[in-house]
Amino acid sequence: MFETSQFYQQALAQLDSVAEHVDLDINIIERLRYPKRSVIVSIPVRMDSGETKVFTGYRVQHSLTAGPGKGGLRFSPHVDFGEVAALAMLMTWKCSLVSLPFGGAKGGMNCDPTKLSPREKERATRRFTQEILPFIGPQIDVMAPDMGTGEQEMAWIYDTYSMHKGHSCPQIVTGKSAALYGTLGRREATGRGVVYCIEEAARIKEINLRESRVIVQGFGNVGSVAAQELHARGCRIVGVADASGHFLCPQGIDPRKLCEYAENNNRRIEGCAGLESVTKEEFFAADCEIAVPAALERQIDEKIANNLKCRILAEGANGPVTIEADKVINDKGIMVIPDIVCNAGGVIVSYFEWVQDIQMFFWTMEEVDSRLQQLIRRAFVGIHHFAERNNYSMRHSALVLGVRETAREKATRGLYP
Ligand code: GLU
Repeated sequence: MFETSQFYQQALAQLDSVAEHVDLDINIIERLRYPKRSVIVSIPVRMDSGETKVFTGYRVQHSLTAGPGKGGLRFSPHVDFGEVAALAMLMTWKCSLVSLPFGGAKGGMNCDPTKLSPREKERATRRFTQEILPFIGPQIDVMAPDMGTGEQEMAWIYDTYSMHKGHSCPQIVTGKSAALYGTLGRREATGRGVVYCIEEAARIKEINLRESRVIVQGFGNVGSVAAQELHARGCRIVGVADASGHFLCPQGIDPRKLCEYAENNNRRIEGCAGLESVTKEEFFAADCEIAVPAALERQIDEKIANNLKCRILAEGANGPVTIEADKVINDKGIMVIPDIVCNAGGVIVSYFEWVQDIQMFFWTMEEVDSRLQQLIRRAFVGIHHFAERNNYSMRHSALVLGVRETAREKATRGLYP
């Protein structure tokens, strides 16, 4: 069950910390402690070898109060019910924090996508979509890319759903390629959003980005874009990491070149010239001004937190810091940009994609980017002001604002019947 998962417990502890400090109806909080609806499916897939393998798939809708469920679909060997349920809860706060008309949801399939051929991945994605078909829809639940999935998987979901409905229905999923009714700027959105938040935090902390050193854990869609955007602003990227290991490069590395290298090396950064292999502990203990954990959840524990040198911790990933580590980080005076705002750029631009698909009227890159900046910077500044006014940490402030809005909406609508 999901309740036993450490990550779910972490998400619950965050919710409880809000309930303790804010005057919210305890009955509403009780409802928010559970996902509204969870679907677990078996996904039989004919492998290229001819044998059949069965994967487990999940779609958890934590809340549908503010609108359709919204959140990514991840393909990863780590995926389990607890992880997906925790991530769905975080999506609720994230959407509410930036005032998107969505509830929170998340999906996953327990598989190693690097070990599946494109044909196997296609069959798995289509079968998963078919299995959860009664629970998704443009007004019910809209999936998007997450770890291990991207534009191609979204195209297969779009196609499978449309084939069942008998007409083209691009608004069923976001994160599609621009050629397939996706939006411009979705692929870069999460990484760019991280950097807009870092710019705001650096202004407050009086840190000059041109003189800043940065470490980035995770070199996927979020980490690689954030690294390139920061590099373009004059930061020195002194540490990078992905599934192939943690690496330091005190002289700095050009993330564009690293991307090219990874493209030709099975998407692994290991072996690139200038990278010195270190342990995860050494990586996070590196001298730097900005650290961007943009990989998995629960990467920074108490011990790692004790050795952090950064002044800004920008959570590109969801839930990268454990509850115990969070206390240490606060005591050290590091400014945390909490996940639910830091990586909200992805879902913000997903919202733009959904709106464009419903209207069949498409925006320019400038329109997408300026609206993204407007929403995410406003959210960051709002969280910071609220934190200052109430003497809250940035995380607590973000959580209070996210949970409070959802709770108010639920309270006003009332409990049916
Ligand atoms: N998977 C992303 C997230 O965790 C994006 C979700 C979306 O675009 O709906 O926020």
